[in-house]
Amino acid sequence: MKNKPLVTLLVPAYNEQEALPLFWERTCRVLEPLQGEYDFEFLFINDGSRDGTLRVLEELRARDPRVNYLDMSRNYGKETGMLAGFDHARGECVITLDADLQEPPEVIPQMLDKWRQGYDDVWGRRISHSRQGVLKRTSSRLYHQLLAGMSRDVDLSGDAGDFRLLDRRCVEALRAMRESQRYTKGLYEVIGFRKAPVDYEIGPRVAGTSKWGVRRLVGLALDGITSHSVVPLRLASYMGFILSLAAFVYLIVVLVKALFWGEAVAGYPTIVCLILFIGGFVLLALGIIGEYLGRIFMETKQRPPYFLNSVNGEKSVNEE
Ligand code: UDP
Ligand code: MG
Repeated sequence: MKNKPLVTLLVPAYNEQEALPLFWERTCRVLEPLQGEYDFEFLFINDGSRDGTLRVLEELRARDPRVNYLDMSRNYGKETGMLAGFDHARGECVITLDADLQEPPEVIPQMLDKWRQGYDDVWGRRISHSRQGVLKRTSSRLYHQLLAGMSRDVDLSGDAGDFRLLDRRCVEALRAMRESQRYTKGLYEVIGFRKAPVDYEIGPRVAGTSKWGVRRLVGLALDGITSHSVVPLRLASYMGFILSLAAFVYLIVVLVKALFWGEAVAGYPTIVCLILFIGGFVLLALGIIGEYLGRIFMETKQRPPYFLNSVNGEKSVNEE
């Protein structure tokens, strides 16, 4: 008999003790009819949870030998958690989905069909955002348009998330990019390969609360821009050029005025405005440079992106 391909379900979990058993149950029901064709493994990432997530994972593994879990040494955030997952997934393809069931596992069979048809990166396309607030929706759309405008790496309508099926070669490509401040949504575009969308409707969170506060989202948004675009740096140069040009023109005006009309002292308000404007702009430009410099600084240290406490309950030593 032909070997069944192994499919890894990669699930980052941070303080998800209530959601996990529900997730496991509902997903098992979806996998049931697919067992004839595929083997499955769950790979949960406990991202330094402060609740009973780890205990729940131990219990799940005791009940279901297909359940594997990584215990991160602290909370690293979902992006790094997924990298750890890619490193440890054994499947011929990996399906990433959230523990809160906002991404319906019922879509998995369609994703597998597309994979069978030869697609490498089958991405979930959110067809309705109605569950998300208007503010989150609009700001997310604006941000993606901005980012797409600034970088050829990213071509995002904002409908794509982390709910996707990745072929082994996509996983290896993502693993090869070890940058520490990751913006995985951009990396999917960087790696290329054959992509196909599968539509799904985003559901409500089954339990617990969203972990993405405003601060985290802004941080992720900045990481997205600084890791996929140098347009802000260029903007600083353009603005500097325009300002210098304007300053030169104004200099001539002032000179001519002073020479022919002898009016040298008046113009105090103009000077104050100019000093404030230029000072502000210089600081802004420095800040932009600083953002990139900070990234370079973090990356040059070449630190391993994460450390693990344990793999399936067994103590782990980082081999990197
Ligand atoms: N998550 C994680 N580490 C974190 C924050 C979140 O692994 O530091 C996981 C979380 O458990 C969930 C997924 O990432 O499975 C998405 O998080 P959440 O549902 O809170 O985000 P939202 O859906 O509100 O954007
Ligand atoms: Mg969620």
